[in-house]
Amino acid sequence: MYWYDYYGKRFAPEHEKNIIMELSQLSRIPFELGNSVHNTIAEILKDLRIRGRPISLDEAKETAVNKFEILVQNKPLIEKRLGIELNPEEREKIHGQIKTSMTTFYGSKWLTMMQDMPRDMWDNWHIDPEGYGEFRIEGKKAYAKPDLLFEYKDGRHYLVEWKTGKPHRDENMFQVQAYLFYAKDILGLDLEKTVGVVQYLTYPSEKPIEVEGRLVNPMEMKNKIISEIKLIESKCADVSKNKPLPIGQFPKTEELGYCRMCKYREICRPDYESEPIQSRLF
Ligand code: SF4
Repeated sequence: MYWYDYYGKRFAPEHEKNIIMELSQLSRIPFELGNSVHNTIAEILKDLRIRGRPISLDEAKETAVNKFEILVQNKPLIEKRLGIELNPEEREKIHGQIKTSMTTFYGSKWLTMMQDMPRDMWDNWHIDPEGYGEFRIEGKKAYAKPDLLFEYKDGRHYLVEWKTGKPHRDENMFQVQAYLFYAKDILGLDLEKTVGVVQYLTYPSEKPIEVEGRLVNPMEMKNKIISEIKLIESKCADVSKNKPLPIGQFPKTEELGYCRMCKYREICRPDYESEPIQSRLF
């Protein structure tokens, strides 16, 4: 998947480039669930800044569900390509997850903390910051960007990531620590005074991750990020031109479950035989 995503359009044989281009545009229903929730939260916060209070929870749920329906109707989806229709129960389940996410957001302490601050500080919120979140670590490019950044009266900055998927705490812990470096490198914030947060919106019983910058070992974290970058570079024939090794050097996953809904399946594993997928969309 990695090779197709990052290199396919430039380095695939000519006869495959168009199809890779087309497949790379495909989204998936769970991603659009996440997009509808993320976009709605960003809109609510921007609106809150103007009106001084958030829209009602019911309105927020309705907005997010409508957004989801518009996204899945208009975007090219792997599910559509594979001829998978959402049945009414599945659609109802997704709507329920979206509504749960909005309820978790409204009940989260982050929203309360943000509103606790004097109104003239609200303009400093970074809501869905622009760009790809590129920063440098020892001269090497890395990418990490939180969904939200705000300052609280305890003098600390909070970097928040909203998650709608299943919790992967170890992976998320690493990701949120990388945000602290983004905040330091791009925004010049003091690591000692930042807190990285992951809030699991669809799984309200899952405790949010909170990583205090002052407890992070910067050397250890830097080394972890650099070893990730080196792993990526080891897959390059020419790092300066970002030219990859041949596709054969990127082994296909042996966990066939990943291939089931993979957008590149038709070129990567055209013989893949899927079990009936209707009941296993999510
Ligand atoms: S079909 Fe499977 S092996 Fe091929 S790119 Fe997708 S996930 Fe990887």
